[in-house]
Amino acid sequence: MDDSVGMECGVFSAIDFEQKQIFPYVYWGMRAQNHRGHQSYGFLTFDGKFNVHRNLDLIPKIKKKETQEWLTRLPGHVGIGNVRYTTSGRRDEDSLIKGTQPATAETKKTKIAISFNGNIVNTIQQKKELSKTFPNFSYECDAELICRKLAIELTKDPDLLSAAKTCMKEIEGAFSVSGITQEGTLFAFKDPTGFRPLCTGCNSRGNICAFSSETVGFDINGFNHDFEIKPGEFIIATEKGFERKQIIANKKKALCAFEFAYFARPDSKLNGNYVYEVREEFGRNLGREYSEIVKEADLIISLPETSDDAAFGLHEETGLRWERSTRRHRYVTDRAFILLSQERYSTINRKINIVDHKLVGKNLIVIDDSIVRGDTTRVVIEKMRKLGAEKIHLFITFPRIIGPCFYGIDMATYNELIGSTRKPEEIAQIVSADSVNYQSIDGFVKSTGMKKDELCFGCVTGKYPTPLAQRLANWMHRRFENGHKEYGRIYEIDVENLT
Ligand code: SF4
Repeated sequence: MDDSVGMECGVFSAIDFEQKQIFPYVYWGMRAQNHRGHQSYGFLTFDGKFNVHRNLDLIPKIKKKETQEWLTRLPGHVGIGNVRYTTSGRRDEDSLIKGTQPATAETKKTKIAISFNGNIVNTIQQKKELSKTFPNFSYECDAELICRKLAIELTKDPDLLSAAKTCMKEIEGAFSVSGITQEGTLFAFKDPTGFRPLCTGCNSRGNICAFSSETVGFDINGFNHDFEIKPGEFIIATEKGFERKQIIANKKKALCAFEFAYFARPDSKLNGNYVYEVREEFGRNLGREYSEIVKEADLIISLPETSDDAAFGLHEETGLRWERSTRRHRYVTDRAFILLSQERYSTINRKINIVDHKLVGKNLIVIDDSIVRGDTTRVVIEKMRKLGAEKIHLFITFPRIIGPCFYGIDMATYNELIGSTRKPEEIAQIVSADSVNYQSIDGFVKSTGMKKDELCFGCVTGKYPTPLAQRLANWMHRRFENGHKEYGRIYEIDVENLT
């Protein structure tokens, strides 16, 4: 639970074949997924033309008196939505506004809009290519890049499927995309490796078809979850249901393993399993892997809220009491603060409250989902020590992160990662814990119910599932070891011409 790690994006889109207004469904589908991106949001609907509304921050509550205004602003029976956290493009306010999705692109012959989740690795090459057709292309977001590429391809040949195929062949990285053509066709596709989730669903009468990053987007609308889109698959929503086409053979499936540990909502399903049940199994497995530490412990403490399910699993496995001594201040977020002091811990103190009377003199197992930079972990552990905890053993559900992510998670350099060069004993010292105990990769895999070669563990093993990302990782690692500056953002690096 490292609060400085940003998520990528969330997507929801839908079409009503009875031609009724779709915006309310898209709105709720996105509200259910605001955890996937909190810096900006956007909606686009189609009623013969594209209608767009984008803004910064969380998706707002719509007050009763504002309802008509929103419905008038976003008419039409097809719609796409997006919530975004920037992992590409600049981060000043102006750039954030420009990079807010959905993205649109227009040529003399065509017009298209998309909502996107992921991160592109070979950005510079793609930008060079696109600037021939769009000379004033001011890149602020990978979605713009894919959208423009689709528009160029559709201008040459109106076959949408072949335009998506070109994206899959020429773009390396993570992209789960849903979009609308100028004719109002709703479509979706996923990169051939399938890093990010994207699934399909329908209402019970079958007149509304939808795409969503997570299944919670369907639950909130009362839709049925249909199926997870396969890597390299292209889909069109039709009156008869989803038309599926596998357009690139899936060589290596690699769903981001971190989705299970941290990003996805616990009540979403990934690969057919509820995320919260997988997290419970993480806890049980940690109990088995570190049974010697468990024997000496008095209490389990979870850090709210992504490790609560794992804490329950650990409690079930070991019989140890799970004491809910840490609580999140529900309405205090990092986006709504006025600094009261420069005190180092103030922000975290304002987010998490730790009650002390059960911790005094106790031997604790503190369970958390991950350690990325270690700042939050250190603050929480130091606070527990001040409150009188005797021993603190950290149990971490996600294996040790040793390298950056190039596929949409905000971990950009080796330097920023506490685990890139340090063993668990050294990390324990830095964060003031008695020990740091990571779940094994094999244990993690078993808990997910997936096969090891179906998951991405690039940031954990240093073995990235796509070739340019691997080259980039090797190059960055060499620079890091030699004490050179690492470039923090992948969109700044000419990955195909590394020296
Ligand atoms: S490198 Fe890590 S965070 Fe990035 S997609 Fe792979 S598992 Fe997920």
